[in-house]
Amino acid sequence: MHMMDGLAQHLSAELEQIKADGLFKSETVIGSAQMGTVTVAGRDMVNLCANNYLGLADDPQVVEASIAALEKYGSGMASVRFICGTHELHKQLETTVARYLEKDDAILFGSCFDANGGIFETLLGPDDAVISDTLNHASIIDGVRLSKARRYRFHTSDMDDLELQLKAAEDDGARFKLIVTDGVFSMDGYIAKLPEICDLAQRYKAVVMIDECHATGHLGEKGKGTPHLTGAGNRVDIISGTFGKTLGGAMGGFIAGPQPVIDILRQRARPYLFSNALPPSVAAGAIKAIEIAEKADDRRALLASHTARFRAALAEAGFDLVPGETPIIPVMLYDAVKAQGMAKALQDRGVLVSAFSFPVVPKGKARIRTQMSAGLTDENIDFAIDAFIGAGKDLGVI
Ligand SMILES: *Cc1c(COP(=O)(O)O)cnc(C)c1O
Repeated sequence: MHMMDGLAQHLSAELEQIKADGLFKSETVIGSAQMGTVTVAGRDMVNLCANNYLGLADDPQVVEASIAALEKYGSGMASVRFICGTHELHKQLETTVARYLEKDDAILFGSCFDANGGIFETLLGPDDAVISDTLNHASIIDGVRLSKARRYRFHTSDMDDLELQLKAAEDDGARFKLIVTDGVFSMDGYIAKLPEICDLAQRYKAVVMIDECHATGHLGEKGKGTPHLTGAGNRVDIISGTFGKTLGGAMGGFIAGPQPVIDILRQRARPYLFSNALPPSVAAGAIKAIEIAEKADDRRALLASHTARFRAALAEAGFDLVPGETPIIPVMLYDAVKAQGMAKALQDRGVLVSAFSFPVVPKGKARIRTQMSAGLTDENIDFAIDAFIGAGKDLGVI
């Protein structure tokens, strides 16, 4: 028997088990632009699972800016940044992000996954401590694993536990301490308690870093994110984020922060040094998206109104929702197979949703995570509410 036969058999058995557990992720193939309604196998569906909070993914101005750069500058740089991959549009996007988020400077990455993957090992050594929220995104968890810093975890948004962990790090003689949290937790929609976190950071002389992937562009004044929303403001030191969600939906990540942080990342962050630069067309689209987002109070108001409406209607119908104020509205089913069944029933009714189960959320916490978008109309929201009530009754969920 070839070695591959053994491995292939093992993997097939694993896949069967994933299916039996209701954890198999199948991909929905979309044939249209990413917008309020999408086409799946020729059929229009209301889309409640994109991170397209302001509806900029198909915005004509964003598309036009990208096309203009594509025509002028070609498909890409064919180089990492430090060799010959740095384009004027990269510098312009970095300046734009830094200004928008009120930081000294910013650095681009191929994704926020890469940004979070590269920052911890660059900034911290074995004498240092990272204190990380247990619900943080996988990219933070992996980035922390790659660093040699000592690791401390605090129960999500539990300030007493955070303080215990800060004390533990101090007792262990940490040289530098860095607290890291998602600004908005993607699976629950919770907002981090930034003012309290910053108070503790001040008391224990820790640096504060937040991941703003589910906040930048749509939350807070001018969409500047959770530091503005919570009043923590500039007490947050370092911000990571993405251009793959609210800010145009294409791709790319960034870190914004104090000058020496950005400068050392350019020298040492491995995903920056060893991976191709963003295409100039993507940078041009992101610059336009930020320009629009900054002024988009109308879109943010529509997003808030959809959120309030959808949340109220589902709660009234008897669904079990995770409480919160962001456009992330998780509908709890707890059981993975049930969540998959509900997602399928909703798709049959023309609403595209996704069921989330382990390992994306803890075991026994399966859910359908719905996300509102300014790209949705009031009619789309009503259609989705009707579908939820119909499917929920059919399956005995409500
Ligand atoms: C989406 C997301 C990321 C990854 O961003 P990409 O740019 O898609 O790699 C990182 N952190 C959080 C909290 C996210 O939601």
